[in-house]
Amino acid sequence: MGAEAEAATADPKAILADLASTRSEREDLYVWFHQHPELGLAEHETSTRIAETLSGYGVEPKKVGETGVVAIISSGDGPVVAARADIDALPVEENSGKDYASTATVENSDGSRTPVAHACGHDVHITSLLGSVQALATHTDDWSGTFVAVFQPAEETAAGAQALVDAGISDVIPTPEVYLGQHVLSTLPTGHVGTQVGPVFSTSQRIGVTVYGHGTHGAMPNLGVDPVVLAASIVLRLQTIVSREIDPADQASITVGAINAGTRANIIPDSARLLIDTRAYSEEVQKQIAEAIERIVRAECEASRSPREPEFEYYEHYPITSNAEAETDRVRAAFDAYFGEKSGDLGRLPASEDFSIVSDALGVPYSYWGIGAFSDPDAAVGNHDPAFAPDMQPTLDTGTEALVTAACAWLRP
Ligand code: ZN
Ligand code: ZN
Repeated sequence: MGAEAEAATADPKAILADLASTRSEREDLYVWFHQHPELGLAEHETSTRIAETLSGYGVEPKKVGETGVVAIISSGDGPVVAARADIDALPVEENSGKDYASTATVENSDGSRTPVAHACGHDVHITSLLGSVQALATHTDDWSGTFVAVFQPAEETAAGAQALVDAGISDVIPTPEVYLGQHVLSTLPTGHVGTQVGPVFSTSQRIGVTVYGHGTHGAMPNLGVDPVVLAASIVLRLQTIVSREIDPADQASITVGAINAGTRANIIPDSARLLIDTRAYSEEVQKQIAEAIERIVRAECEASRSPREPEFEYYEHYPITSNAEAETDRVRAAFDAYFGEKSGDLGRLPASEDFSIVSDALGVPYSYWGIGAFSDPDAAVGNHDPAFAPDMQPTLDTGTEALVTAACAWLRP
């Protein structure tokens, strides 16, 4: 319903015409990244390989921070479009059964080793973004403008996007008109793409709560204050926040993922610690949840005769990911034209992302979509599952096609 006609845009089919010719090269790259997973802010081999691959395409890589990499391809005058791939892996032992499954481990400070795998599929994101750079760099006759590829570390710990901002990414790249991102998902069939206007990923706030009791002998509970019983009351009462306080039209979740107290059966300890994960689809609801948690914890402490104020530690905050309407409509129209009936709705996803921290810092709108990872979603496992390993094709092709197609909704012919 735009009042003015859109300027002519580049044709993604021309830029992607010879995608098949790079298929085996991109699959080899993917297998290498899959077998060399690295945890957040330790993606040293990964970022080196990304930089070498970009150089091989004739595109100069630039480091941002320790392990972030950006590439800027210009082809004359025109709009600037930026696209992001996250590059980190997870402390998961892969059991996908693939012949290229990860056997990588990382050494801990005590000398033990933790398995590492790309159980969230960020290796697909890396390879897809490299594929789009390669396609755009070899077809500069077919488009004009500037494409910026952003390889972001440490999405899984909510630290990487902020690390790029802190390292001055806004001084390294030109300000784009839009910031684009994508994720492989088990909820869409391979070859399919899904878009969503408005909230797509929830906010997430993790809260550590310490409550205090008074230690004593387990046979003389009247002489102390039992923080285990106090913590147990808190766990149950917290579950009334979503069911009794949040508007049923809103979505939210609260999970106590860890509860620690005590050492022996017959000793009442003097404190208990809970780790709480909270999710919501607006910052207002997220704030409402945090206030309710503090209120309930304080009230339960008083009810239990707790001798000290409880302590709250807020950590690992993910902002909401809410796609800009006009930009997402533009991506959707481009996807409908390129993918036909394989372009559909994404819906809201019960996960969180730090993607929007960079675009918010740059002051630009963003759009984030999903791409299918398995031919049969009903038989697929979810992201972070030890068995998570997307079907290599058409997933890798779709990832590159989606990035080029979305970018072409802005780039000029
Ligand atoms: Zn993940
Ligand atoms: Zn992920």
